[in-house]
Amino acid sequence: MLANEVPHSSHPLTCPAEPVAREALMAIADRPPAAMVRGDGAWLWDEHGRKLLDFIQGWAVNALGHCPAEIVSALQRQSQTLISASPALHNGPQFELASRLTAASGLAQAHFANSGAEANEAAVKLARKWGQANRPGATEIITTDQAFHGRTLAMMAASGKPGWDQKFPPMPTGFVKVPFGDLAAMQAAVSRQTLAIMVEPIQGEAGVVVPPPGYLEGLRKLAHEAGVLLILDEVQTGIGRTGKLFAFEHESARPDILTLGKGLGGGLPISAMLATREVCCFEYGDQGGTFNGSALMTAGALAVLNAVDDAGFLKNVTERGAQLAAGLARTKGIVEVRGAGLLWAARLSQPLAVPVVTAALQAGLLINAPRPDTLRFMPSLRTTPDEVEKALLLLQQAVTKVYAP
Ligand SMILES: *Cc1c(COP(=O)(O)O)cnc(C)c1O
Repeated sequence: MLANEVPHSSHPLTCPAEPVAREALMAIADRPPAAMVRGDGAWLWDEHGRKLLDFIQGWAVNALGHCPAEIVSALQRQSQTLISASPALHNGPQFELASRLTAASGLAQAHFANSGAEANEAAVKLARKWGQANRPGATEIITTDQAFHGRTLAMMAASGKPGWDQKFPPMPTGFVKVPFGDLAAMQAAVSRQTLAIMVEPIQGEAGVVVPPPGYLEGLRKLAHEAGVLLILDEVQTGIGRTGKLFAFEHESARPDILTLGKGLGGGLPISAMLATREVCCFEYGDQGGTFNGSALMTAGALAVLNAVDDAGFLKNVTERGAQLAAGLARTKGIVEVRGAGLLWAARLSQPLAVPVVTAALQAGLLINAPRPDTLRFMPSLRTTPDEVEKALLLLQQAVTKVYAP
């Protein structure tokens, strides 16, 4: 049986045997007790040798699955040459990654950081700097209800999770919220105070909320006409996750500022903020970070981009996504399926997502519950037809168990 299979590999299981002082780690999430020790493609093994089909993949970060050969060899090669020169010096892979991302996005320049939140902070700083020169007096950025932009103080304020903008006062200000997917509400909210509009093309953490067709295109037009910036947070949707390299390509809604994270590093901590020529106005000292754009992380991200660029890669994302969505729609207990590419959510007829996630874990499938009635699926972008079928089978077992115990 899947769940109890022992890994057939020579890799040692490197987690120390119990008892380990797990209390030494701050508890910031309700995690299952077992530690993970090894990953390979779609599969993850815990310290007890249990094999799990991973449809979380590091929270949509392992774009190529666990421990892909390309990243392993890029890290091996680069770490023997240069790991980090310092943020005050140039390195080759950083130049190459910047030119690849700007060419692919149609934006002019890139800045690298280490997390999605940090890239979004950079985006807000850049927008405010641009505004000081181009829209004097305007300081507000319009974001959306339920949005997720990260966990720094400013990004919690920018996010639309209820209560988040007041959780750790004093909080940064300057963010105005409107309902997501509602173009008229956005239009009504734009004023002389407005500097920028900032949205996710698909709201990921909110539960894969897909806006109506034309929304991004409408925002692009609105921002242009109002003379404000369009910032797209593609930390979750970027780098092939929705079947295009960038989700904005679905509607030709190229933003003024674009942020990337998660899949960009294929599991490595790297993020990026890109902008048009007119908006790139940082001066020396405005922005930086000790680890930003290190040779090692940018070399790893280049390995991801090379793989995603391969003919057939995005086609697989779209085809496996269609397979997964069709299977979810057939699954008893699921009443709504939404998403794109390989980012999908399934709404259950009852608020049983947490017990279903637990039952799925017991059956050998890793998924998550972004909402009490919603499951989310974010497998490796290289997932195979067999893996998708297997996931659907394990999911049906879990749902059946929870619905009819
Ligand atoms: C995950 C996520 C972030 C935050 O990224 P971190 O790397 O966790 O800081 C920001 N925006 C979106 C859309 C995300 O999904």
